Amino acid sequence: MDPDRIVVLAGGVGGAKFVRGLRALGRRTPDRSPDVTVVANTGDDLWLAGLRVTPDLDSLMYALAGVNDEQRGWGRAGESERVSAELTAYGVGWPWFTLGDLDLGTHIARSAMLREGLPLSAVVERLSARWPLGVRLLPATDDEVETHVVTAEGELHFEEWWVRTRAALPALAFRQQGVETATAAPGVREAILAADVVLVAPSNPVVSIGTVLGIPGVREALAATSAPVVGLSPVIGGAVVRGMADACLTAIGVETDAAAIARHYGARADGGLLDGWLVDETDAAAVEALAGSGIRTAAVPLWMTDDDATADMAAAALRLAAR
Ligand code: GDP
Ligand code: CA
Repeated sequence: MDPDRIVVLAGGVGGAKFVRGLRALGRRTPDRSPDVTVVANTGDDLWLAGLRVTPDLDSLMYALAGVNDEQRGWGRAGESERVSAELTAYGVGWPWFTLGDLDLGTHIARSAMLREGLPLSAVVERLSARWPLGVRLLPATDDEVETHVVTAEGELHFEEWWVRTRAALPALAFRQQGVETATAAPGVREAILAADVVLVAPSNPVVSIGTVLGIPGVREALAATSAPVVGLSPVIGGAVVRGMADACLTAIGVETDAAAIARHYGARADGGLLDGWLVDETDAAAVEALAGSGIRTAAVPLWMTDDDATADMAAAALRLAAR
């Protein structure tokens, strides 16, 4: 299948790896490479030290620009932390949430544009124009909808729960603060409705994909589009590949298991998200388990070890979409 327009729902680091692979797949057929629109999670965004920080959008932008820190897994390569040390000395910001100097440049630029009155989607367009990303990046919403985590010790911003407590404080629930009055960013619904294929990246199902789906209008557009919707499992062999996404799944009562996540997303025919679902080879039992669920499932290697391996995953997702 050679779709012209692909929409990807994505979180930060896992989403970015996947989109890089999809871009690499397009580059295998340069004369026919599709237009890719990435709808990114904005639930992790926050104001810190007077600056608007958008972690997932930045993970996507830096990885696609090739300026991300591959070793550490987040932020900019060749980073220094002189400014953060000064902020900590003044008692400003979160000492456990270090922002690198280069990264702070992005946050200052973003905050300046927001204060000039630009909506986030326009800010993202201006920031990412600096690099030839090869895809269109869209925040799921221009509104400030922040993920909060309800715990026995009170309600925390998602980043505080994730980074300071390392998701060790049991989450009782996740809340999208401000979602009631939010709308999808300009272009999001339009891109989904005009897509030939929608791909759900192997991102955190709860606080990345779940947050995008929670923005009013997004689910409706996904239900209405004629494009098949195919997801890729972030769980391999009963474990998340990296990070602590299992803590999020446990909190909402979903097993850390490829088939369980597909059931959680649901079949589009039953009002859910998915037409198709890719699991890793080691989870091939999920193909049987999901037979009759209305979700076409296939098993292929799902390790995003490099852009080429990830391009093969994206190709398998497009084949499943065409089936
Ligand atoms: P975040 O916003 O930075 O947490 O990133 P995402 O939500 O986009 O993605 C996080 C998820 O990516 C994690 O739950 C991992 O399980 C998943 N992930 C990371 N690397 C891989 C990989 O190589 N293969 C698969 N299938 N999933 C991965
Ligand atoms: Ca994130």
